[in-house]
Amino acid sequence: MTGMDSSAAAGFAAPAGFAAPTGLDGSAVTRFAPSPTGELHLGNARTALFNYLLARRAGGRFVLRIEDTDAQRSQESHLATVLEDLRWLGLDWDAGPDREDARGPYRQSQRGALYARFLEALERHGAVYPCFCTPLELEAARRAQLGSGRPPRYAGTCRALSEQQRRDKRAQGLPATTRFRVPSGRRIEFVDLVHGPQSFLSDDIGDFVIRRADGTAAFFFSNAVDDASMGVTHVLRGEDHLANTPRQLLILEALGLPVPSYGHVSLILGPDGQPLSKRHGATSVREYRDRGYRPEALRNHLFRLGHSSGEHGLLDRGSMARAFDPAHLGRAPAHFDAQQLRVWQKDAAHHLSPGEARAWLAPVLPPGLSESAASAFVGAILPNVVLPEDAEPWAAIVFGPPPALETDGEEVIRKAGEHYFEAAAQAAAQSGNDLPAIAAAARAATGRKGAELYMPLRLALTGRSHGPELAPLLKAMPAGEAHARLARFA
Ligand code: GLU
Repeated sequence: MTGMDSSAAAGFAAPAGFAAPTGLDGSAVTRFAPSPTGELHLGNARTALFNYLLARRAGGRFVLRIEDTDAQRSQESHLATVLEDLRWLGLDWDAGPDREDARGPYRQSQRGALYARFLEALERHGAVYPCFCTPLELEAARRAQLGSGRPPRYAGTCRALSEQQRRDKRAQGLPATTRFRVPSGRRIEFVDLVHGPQSFLSDDIGDFVIRRADGTAAFFFSNAVDDASMGVTHVLRGEDHLANTPRQLLILEALGLPVPSYGHVSLILGPDGQPLSKRHGATSVREYRDRGYRPEALRNHLFRLGHSSGEHGLLDRGSMARAFDPAHLGRAPAHFDAQQLRVWQKDAAHHLSPGEARAWLAPVLPPGLSESAASAFVGAILPNVVLPEDAEPWAAIVFGPPPALETDGEEVIRKAGEHYFEAAAQAAAQSGNDLPAIAAAARAATGRKGAELYMPLRLALTGRSHGPELAPLLKAMPAGEAHARLARFA
């Protein structure tokens, strides 16, 4: 245990900064550490993906830690949602709240005993002290600092209380938080995997809370000691945590715990350059999932948000892990682009196997459809579908009553003439829903060719002049349906 000593106060600066492991080999451990306070946001999903890929690329381990020490904001239902969303995204973890191992438990709310031990160690070293300042007092001090143009930081009010003063305050029943005593005159340096060398002055950092008044461990503390005690070697997380890192390094140093390599990933912005929010449309994994987006589409878009890669096609997880390189993480904010996601989605949809496509589109198929009709339909419309909602009108056209003609359709039908439809309907009656036979009959009867031949058929059979390839679509229709639809115009 290195602990705090007087050399810190005397302006000692760690010569080489905080050396962290940089080796990316089978011993690498990464983690995703969500706070279950809501749905999994796209930004967090990308953080999870990057950590997952880093571990898989190294042949190391990826663990899931739930940061639920804030009991008021953490909910069991949110935890279930986060686990479900991560599973859906295909980011399987090697250890987590549902896969405990010797380094667990993986829920911070169950790690109180461990935090207590580390806190005691800090207390023994005089590295922490109780703070009795009320939220109101802290707020007033903060305003005063801001008002006089100083950066807000804890003024140190309770730093030098005597033992007697502390006892008195406790005797009065005043609640106390525990603050970390930030050493003065230190330069805290580390090399960020994304932003490169970083340097902070400890004098810019106020003493910060590591245990709340209710006794629970606060973020800086639980997050840092958990990374160390879970053997985490690499931490990729949001840029909003960059300024937290020097505090966490101080905690780890005081406890003599190992330091991970940190990489702070740029924010995700909307197309207008503002942080991605509800104003930009769907921002949670759940919303995309509910609309029928494919996990591989979302993964491929997130993979390229703030991470440059020479790999252009739709990548599976293995190829993505091989192509993932923290050195290719950009410092500039990344822009979420719903259109680009749609391109990935289209690609992903068109790569589905027949069985996968059938399962994917099941929610928009009419109930009670036979396996063969469902498979024929899905096969016919898949090339024209990006989302399941695109298949819905086609399910109505194919399996519902004969559809009304789109505008201008009647004119095309009228011009084709009764003779055309008599021949077509007769061929349909004989051949079943067989387009080549129907078209051949209409052609023989009228001499029409190309679009002239097919357009009246398409309109009579589907009501529309555009759509999926007609022959497979007809095969999906109930028997006798092609005849019934064509006979309407004979
Ligand atoms: N629970 C923190 C968050 O969701 C984790 C931060 C980190 O990854 O270190 O922001």
